Amino acid sequence: MSQTTKTTTLLVIGGGPGGYVAAIRAGQLGVPTILVEGERLGGTCLNIGCIPSKALIHAAEEYEKARHYADGSALGISVTSPSIDIARTVAWKDGIVGKLTGGVAALLKKNGVEVVQGWARLLDGKTAEVETAAGPVRIQCEHLLLAAGSEPTPLPSVPFGGMVVSSTEALSPADIPKKLVVVGGGYIGLELGTVYRKLGAEVAVVEAQDRILPTYDAELTKPVAAALAKMGVELHLGRKVLGLNGKGNAVRVQDASGAETQLPADRVLIAVGRRPRTQGWGLESLQLDRHGNALRIDDQCRTSMRDVWAIGDIAGEPMLAHRAMAQGEMVAELVAGKRRHFTPASIPAVCFTDPEVVVSGLSPADAERAGLDCLSASFPFAANGRAMTLESTDGFVRVVARRDNHLVVGWQAVGRGVSELAAAFSQSLEMGATLEDVAGTIHAHPTLGEAVQEAALKALGHALHI
Ligand SMILES: Cc1cc2nc3c(=O)[nH]c(=O)nc-3n(C[C@H](O)[C@H](O)[C@H](O)COP(=O)(O)OP(=O)(O)OC[C@H]3O[C@@H](n4cnc5c(N)ncnc54)[C@H](O)[C@@H]3O)c2cc1C
Repeated sequence: MSQTTKTTTLLVIGGGPGGYVAAIRAGQLGVPTILVEGERLGGTCLNIGCIPSKALIHAAEEYEKARHYADGSALGISVTSPSIDIARTVAWKDGIVGKLTGGVAALLKKNGVEVVQGWARLLDGKTAEVETAAGPVRIQCEHLLLAAGSEPTPLPSVPFGGMVVSSTEALSPADIPKKLVVVGGGYIGLELGTVYRKLGAEVAVVEAQDRILPTYDAELTKPVAAALAKMGVELHLGRKVLGLNGKGNAVRVQDASGAETQLPADRVLIAVGRRPRTQGWGLESLQLDRHGNALRIDDQCRTSMRDVWAIGDIAGEPMLAHRAMAQGEMVAELVAGKRRHFTPASIPAVCFTDPEVVVSGLSPADAERAGLDCLSASFPFAANGRAMTLESTDGFVRVVARRDNHLVVGWQAVGRGVSELAAAFSQSLEMGATLEDVAGTIHAHPTLGEAVQEAALKALGHALHI
């Protein structure tokens, strides 16, 4: 087949949240843009990450509620023999994914972005070759944006295949296993472990460190650990995974003393992290500076090569969709000649466990490490009316602020539905709010948000409802 050659100003490799947002914004600004995607538009986030996981979390929660009502409920609701058809659940989840990825395709088209379907191979910092269904296409560009994302990190002692799956397969189950072992107590392992538990599996989580969600503040993770225990999820902390047993029906784990136990399993989910997708598509030949496995970027997402940019997971932690999108939007504006820098006051992070965890800005320990003299105060949901009406009084909101001028530098919360507080938290940080600003804002009653105001009031020494 003969080769086609195309030229463009901006070439985006990868159609995940980083790449597609960059392409849309570039299109809006009139920058000729080609986006190459080897799999499906929307990337990890829309197809096998954020969205499908939250869809399954919702389905599992609804099913659990129905089972709870079947056991008799203080609310006076009764339900007889609830059941779940997992094939329909997965089809419903796929429907949501389809709507969103179709929306991305429509937005790219509307903004004049050309999408080339196929895997790109880099020839140099200005040229890529793509194997498309119609034959090879060579694309030459002025600006190259690397947005190829990340992939699940394998565990050499328990390689993927058969009953050993990554989050990708776990998000499209054909059936629910009787016994699931989750390796990794980070947010992906716990979100999916909770889903499978609520759908009826016996779930055991193995984590090498001595607590779950090791990257989060310990205080915040306690209500999550307590809820997992109440749900019947076994936590095996401080354990190393050695491999599968000879029969392939149990995971061998070792504790700090060297003692070995076997955890029976008919499915094993490996969720030990994700690694930037930097291998196997010619990127190595560019010899870009690295930061560990990830591409090193500056505060404009420039790599070490002129006019080669990198955003999202390929540029390392925090591997979050909203960070990739914000970087993508900025790079498009820089390519269009605007002046921008990536210096957010915070990049919020949410863990959609039950209860949820949300953090934005500095924790008390972060503030101390940064040499700031801070005060912090927590307000419990047990003293919040809305939390009581939602039957979820576990958890709290915590604020961290500078002692001298009361500038708010961080927020943390744990509790049902607290993910939605991320907007208020990040806005207050971005706008430089003080404790007095938050305490003096009238928060609607009855809402979980009142706990935000009360945390600020408490830090000022005069909480009203505690
Ligand atoms: C189970 C799970 C749950 C998650 N939940 C959340 C969440 O709740 N909130 C959150 O913020 N983040 C979440 N994430 C993380 C989030 O999905 C990623 O941070 C985000 O998708 C990164 O965006 P990206 O654009 O950098 O890369 P990706 O979304 O990985 O997209 C990269 C794209 O590039 C394509 N590509 C790669 N190489 C090539 C090539 N050579 N040629 C052509 N195309 C190529 C890939 O096919 C892919 O579509 C979750 C991840 C997982 C796995």
